[in-house]
Amino acid sequence: MTEPYALSWLVGTLVDRRFETPSAATLELDVPGWRGAMAGQHVDVRLTAEDGYSTQRSYSLASAGTMGLPGGPVTSERISLTVQVVDDGEVSPYLTQDLQVGDQIELRGPVGNWFVWHATDPHPVQLIGGGSGLVPLMSMLRTRRDVASVSPFRLLVSVRTPGDALYADELATLEPGVAVTRVWTRTGPPGFLGPIGRVNADILRDACFPPDLNAHVFVCGPTPFVELVADTLVDLGHDPDRIRTERFGPTGA
Ligand SMILES: Cc1cc2nc3c(=O)[nH]c(=O)nc-3n(C[C@H](O)[C@H](O)[C@H](O)COP(=O)(O)OP(=O)(O)OC[C@H]3O[C@@H](n4cnc5c(N)ncnc54)[C@H](O)[C@@H]3O)c2cc1C
Repeated sequence: MTEPYALSWLVGTLVDRRFETPSAATLELDVPGWRGAMAGQHVDVRLTAEDGYSTQRSYSLASAGTMGLPGGPVTSERISLTVQVVDDGEVSPYLTQDLQVGDQIELRGPVGNWFVWHATDPHPVQLIGGGSGLVPLMSMLRTRRDVASVSPFRLLVSVRTPGDALYADELATLEPGVAVTRVWTRTGPPGFLGPIGRVNADILRDACFPPDLNAHVFVCGPTPFVELVADTLVDLGHDPDRIRTERFGPTGA
């Protein structure tokens, strides 16, 4: 029996790899048969060793969405993923350090219809990311840029140190159209005089659209980060139905 498209495994070839930080790399992959995705969706990646051992992980699409656009879908078989190395991890060090241009991996998708920004939706959008949780939010920002959307966007991103900040140069090109607030949890940039520490209610109140604007809120990152942010937003008066979350917990098969 033929599998539904989204469940079929495809073969992607690495065509470029660039380091965003010393411990995170963006992989550009050509995927024949790829039919596109909406901003916020992810893929399952499957690696199989010569002895037949196989393992899978999920990775968000960093590239702009190509479906659900105001002008219709864009045809592209090129996708990008950004992988943050997890120390002692099985898959992330392989993808970022061992996989070479020309190598192939299996992947399937797009997966997930909930954590998705519809590029035809005019509502304000509040993005909140912790660490590599910025990846699917970057897809939404790139989609917004590509379709010249005027939906108001704000981004709050929590990062350990400036050396860990993903997409820093590209985010700078999106400002001031997109208001970007950075929270440094360990060390700030030279001359930074603001607070160092975790996201809290005061930061969320100051950086986010107020609850009465009914913004769509997308929160992504490690599970404790996502839960803290979502609970605090509800305490601040945000409608829980407008808060969409994606947790980057372990996904090993
Ligand atoms: C929907 C979804 C989308 C994701 N998108 C991305 C993405 O765009 N970029 C990205 O870098 N990762 C993403 N992840 C996380 C990714 O799937 C893997 O969990 C991550 O790369 C670690 O895999 P690993 O094989 O290297 O580590 P493993 O061998 O699975 O784990 C090694 C050790 O690290 C712990 N661990 C596993 N995953 C994490 C984690 N995410 N954070 C902290 N500790 C962890 C494990 O409990 C274990 O102790 C996503 C996860 C989900 C569920």
